[in-house]
Amino acid sequence: MTRRAIVAANWKMNGDLTLVDTMVSSLKDVELKEKVSVVICPSSPYLSEFVSKAKAGSLSAAIQVGAQNVSEHVSGAFTGEISTQMLQELSVEFVIIGHSERRSYYHETSTQVAHKVKAVLEAGLTPILCIGESEAERVTEQTETVLASQLQPVIDNVGIDKFIDVVIAYEPVWAIGTGKTASSEMAQETHRFIRQFLAQANENVADKVPLLYGGSVNASNCEELFAQPDIDGGLIGGASLQVEQFKVICSAAKGK
Ligand code: PEP
Repeated sequence: MTRRAIVAANWKMNGDLTLVDTMVSSLKDVELKEKVSVVICPSSPYLSEFVSKAKAGSLSAAIQVGAQNVSEHVSGAFTGEISTQMLQELSVEFVIIGHSERRSYYHETSTQVAHKVKAVLEAGLTPILCIGESEAERVTEQTETVLASQLQPVIDNVGIDKFIDVVIAYEPVWAIGTGKTASSEMAQETHRFIRQFLAQANENVADKVPLLYGGSVNASNCEELFAQPDIDGGLIGGASLQVEQFKVICSAAKGK
């Protein structure tokens, strides 16, 4: 993958068929700059509907669909799970992996996250790998150690060269859904750390990996965040449910 800007919408367990309809209609005339993709990640029951409506509405190829989670297993007795193959069949192209809500409520470990990233890459889908520190970890200056401990198992499991097909979303846990955004300077500094960490393993790959910021991004703060040299877009929760606000965020993204 070449480095590009991405605005990804994480609807979480929100939205309904009406939102699918409204979002597709509204994205028909969204103005995107060059090298910008938009990825909508509705809850799994709406994936198929979103893909069909997007096709029927002739949405731009820059607008793609992602899932919010996937199993690391190929198939079998895993009640309630969905597989990468099922997502492929639905023409889903991205999968959010390791969101902090999955790490905390469903006890996903960095090792399991690494297995999921591998399964997603093997299926030819693009993982949006989420990493981020808690407030206590930020306050006690452990941010870099935590991010390294979340990235390293994935690098070890899939190999740094495969990161050319990975998108990373840095989401400080204390900023998710709280209205507290990291300042653009703090976000840039952390994104630079992530890129340098990857560069220690492969500089060329590190240059190309899209690094998204997530955590209370909205129509008012997106421009400043996206202007930072190492921020290539955002993973948007709450504001992605508000169609007009989301369009403003999509239009603010620019390729570097
Ligand atoms: C998220 O869920 O990934 C997120 C960043 O949420 P919010 O934008 O609501 O903080």
